Amino acid sequence: MKENFDFLMPSVNFFGAGVIKKVGDRAKMLNMKKPLIVTDKGIESLENGPVDQTLASLKGAGVDYVVYDGVEPNPKVHNIQEAKKLYLAEGCDSIITVGGGSAHDCGKGTGIILTNGDDITKLAGIETLENPLPPLMAVNTTAGTASELTRHCVITNTETKLKFVVVSWRNVPLVSFNDPMLELDVPRGMTAATGMDTFVQAIEPYVSTNRNDITDGQCIQAIKLVEESLREVVANGHNVEARTKMVEAEMLGGMAFNNADLGYVHAMAHQLGGQYDAPHGECCAILLPIVEKYNIVACPERFAELAEIMGENTEGLSVRDAADLSIKAMRQMCDDVNIPRSIKAIGAKPEDFELMAENALKDGNAPSNPRKGTKEEIV
Ligand code: NAD
Repeated sequence: MKENFDFLMPSVNFFGAGVIKKVGDRAKMLNMKKPLIVTDKGIESLENGPVDQTLASLKGAGVDYVVYDGVEPNPKVHNIQEAKKLYLAEGCDSIITVGGGSAHDCGKGTGIILTNGDDITKLAGIETLENPLPPLMAVNTTAGTASELTRHCVITNTETKLKFVVVSWRNVPLVSFNDPMLELDVPRGMTAATGMDTFVQAIEPYVSTNRNDITDGQCIQAIKLVEESLREVVANGHNVEARTKMVEAEMLGGMAFNNADLGYVHAMAHQLGGQYDAPHGECCAILLPIVEKYNIVACPERFAELAEIMGENTEGLSVRDAADLSIKAMRQMCDDVNIPRSIKAIGAKPEDFELMAENALKDGNAPSNPRKGTKEEIV
């Protein structure tokens, strides 16, 4: 538990059905004349989807724009280079990201190299940015990474197959938009994977060495909301109430880890994402019960509390037995939303484990894990 802490999040966060319509007015209020819209082709192709609705709102407010739709999943260094080129060629003055974590991180990365030097790989780490990014707003479409409100920018270097993080208060968007109606058509597998990312982002900060009372409250409510709604929304993506609860959970978990940090699940998931270009949420989900089982000895009381928050009956149990129930609940959630049980499912190969373990221990999320591991344990 930390006694002194900073608490960071965007200064304005719009939440609820229809908030997408406010993008244009906010862009105008921020004096954006020609934002670069950073998105991916999948989202752009959705008829009357998040991109169409963002552009309609901008048009309605008389704000010009240019679209960069080249974002790849696990966004790559070359994506932010391309976006920067377009930004400069078109005389843009600001950035609006539309999508999930990949679009937001690509937009943040583009902003970073526009004002902090062209080689983003040199800026990996914590508070490495000397200059502010261009004005940045984030329209979110997955629940999700919560990158629309965090200080993290996760980029993949395809040469080294390393996913690295630039963590800075300068990356926090000025305004975030979370409209659950934009998420009704997220495919089932992606709903499960991104929803599990939200679950992990509420569990890791709860046992993080950097947690505080504010983030604890956010984690508890986020976990309850995921327990109430993730299975439902995977079963029926058009369940608006469940989608809305998942968006709330995503925002709460995002606020929590933005301030209390994460742990080995994310540190290891980044290696799987970098090495095999695997979906981030799925990597996190597979690792969750395995890593947290390993973590129990560091803080069994916290895991016993987690079991209760997840709805397990811990009455009359020892702390250790109650803590074990939290792992059972995590495993059950993974099974219920069809998460594979092994990293074999994403193509992981034993010959890569040693290097990935070494890099996981160097990842920015490793230091706040409650149990300090060795390379052999990570392998
Ligand atoms: P994503 O952004 O890669 O999107 C996944 C797929 O879902 C894409 O094909 C996209 O087209 C589709 N999609 C997105 N929204 C949709 C919608 N509303 N309807 C239909 N399809 C839609 O996935 P993600 O899980 O949101 O982001 C993952 C990335 O975010 C990873 O690189 C991960 O490392 C990073 N991440 C960042 C942070 C942070 O704080 N910056 C935190 C966690 C993860």
